Amino acid sequence: MGILDGKKGLILGLANDKSIAWGVAQACYREGAELGFNYLGEQLEKRVRPLAESVDATLIESLDVSDDAQLDAFFDKVKAQWGEIDFMVHSIAFANKDALRNPFSQATRSDFQLALDISAYSFIACAQRAAPLMKEGGSMVTMTYLGAERAVPGYGMMGVAKAALEASTRYLAQDLGTYGIRVNAVSAGPIRTLAASAVGDFRKLMEKSARGSMLGRNVSQTEVGNTTAYLVSDLASGVSGEVHYVDAGFHIGAGDPGIE
Ligand code: NAP
Repeated sequence: MGILDGKKGLILGLANDKSIAWGVAQACYREGAELGFNYLGEQLEKRVRPLAESVDATLIESLDVSDDAQLDAFFDKVKAQWGEIDFMVHSIAFANKDALRNPFSQATRSDFQLALDISAYSFIACAQRAAPLMKEGGSMVTMTYLGAERAVPGYGMMGVAKAALEASTRYLAQDLGTYGIRVNAVSAGPIRTLAASAVGDFRKLMEKSARGSMLGRNVSQTEVGNTTAYLVSDLASGVSGEVHYVDAGFHIGAGDPGIE
């Protein structure tokens, strides 16, 4: 018996086997869920499809979350094929590399709009289309990072986007709670992925995070996946509007103690 037996869920943002979404997919599959995925354009379908098929995905469709027409088409397909869904995991973020490398005070309007659109608004855009498919109630989870509430070197623009994402999580939880839908965010510690490579000096960030954490190490995508599987399961039926840290306890500490 898995904690997700009989549940159908979408996992948005699988790029490769390093993605946090892959840790989530493996945990949800192990716990008995039937899964659906998106990929961003034909080029990436080649990477995503074999992974999705290895967890017996029954829905694999193209979706660029910056395009309303694609969002409508994707969720229409989900409705036509599955009818109803139980959960959705949003594991998507993007900012121009230069926008993360340049001083934050030099942020341009277009870089700001792009980062906020794909990394924060897209969760709202997906939630408003997924909610009507959650007829028996449901659960939504997005991925965030501590840079939303602290000034983390090299995270600038994305930190502002994550702050908007976390606030959106709370307001979505308020709106959708009426329909029995829970909305939460998982705040993961740093994990080496494609998206993470855009963050300046990520190696140093990982070292500091390990040293400053309560467990003295970083977390894995499997650990983030396991916590997400719990949040989308009925075991978390009383949890909504939460930012749940999976960072080996780094956020409660005073930071890197500076021990080399
Ligand atoms: P990842 O594997 O690169 O995943 C990011 C995903 O976002 C990719 O699948 C990417 O697709 C997708 N994406 C970007 N623009 C998109 C668009 N317009 N439409 C649809 N999909 C789009 O990196 P990750 O680290 O697992 O990131 C997943 C989430 O975890 C992000 O929200 C990230 O901020 C968050 N997070 C990461 C860490 C970390 O240290 N890695 C820590 C805390 C939170 P393509 O690759 O195909 O472009």
